[in-house]
Amino acid sequence: MAYKITADCISCGACEAECPVSAISAGDGKYVIDADTCIGCGACAGVCPVGAPVEE
Ligand code: SF4
Ligand code: SF4
Repeated sequence: MAYKITADCISCGACEAECPVSAISAGDGKYVIDADTCIGCGACAGVCPVGAPVEE
C-alpha cells in the first residue's frame, strides 16, 4: 500500500533521502510521494519528525 504525505509536513526533507525507490520529492508547500513508485516500506514515516507520511 502506498503512503501519502499530509499537510502536517514541514518540508524538512529528511524522508527524501530515506526512500529506497526515490518516490519522494519537494512539492508545493510540502513534500509529495509518487503513489505509483512507492512500495509502502514505511521508511519515510520512520524518519519524519511530525508523522506526516501515512498509509493511504
Ligand atoms: Fe518511499 Fe517507503 Fe515512503 Fe513509499 S513508504 S515513499 S517507498 S520511503
Ligand atoms: Fe515532510 Fe516529514 Fe518528509 Fe520532513 S520527513 S519533508 S516533515 S514528510
